[in-house]
Amino acid sequence: MKEKTIFSKIIDKDIPANIIYEDEHSILIEDISPQAPIHYLAIPKKEVIGISDLSDGDGELVGHLLLMIKEQMAIKGIDDYRLVINNGSEAGQTVFHLHIHVLANRTLGWPPG
Ligand code: AMP
Repeated sequence: MKEKTIFSKIIDKDIPANIIYEDEHSILIEDISPQAPIHYLAIPKKEVIGISDLSDGDGELVGHLLLMIKEQMAIKGIDDYRLVINNGSEAGQTVFHLHIHVLANRTLGWPPG
């Protein structure tokens, strides 16, 4: 059996996390090492390694993640935020279970490093 990622362990409640929101298909948690005053991770419950591993049938899931982020940020009254997906280790991916970083409440420089 393959080793669960840290995010699968969080989804399965094997380990704790600060959960902001959860539904059947996704979970929104606080990043353990925040890079901004608000730093959430939107994670699909389906085990997908990264964007490169999405299949044609995953469109609804990706749309669901984006709409979930939109809704949760609106509930918090946060209008300005940045979404980041690191795909592959050279791009900075360290957890190989697809996730979208949600960063807010500080000025974010551009271009990113
Ligand atoms: P990435 O480098 O894009 O793969 O992002 C992985 C993110 O997961 C990093 O920002 C980590 O700080 C975060 N992270 C790792 N372990 C945990 C955990 N147990 N709970 C919450 N966030 C985590």
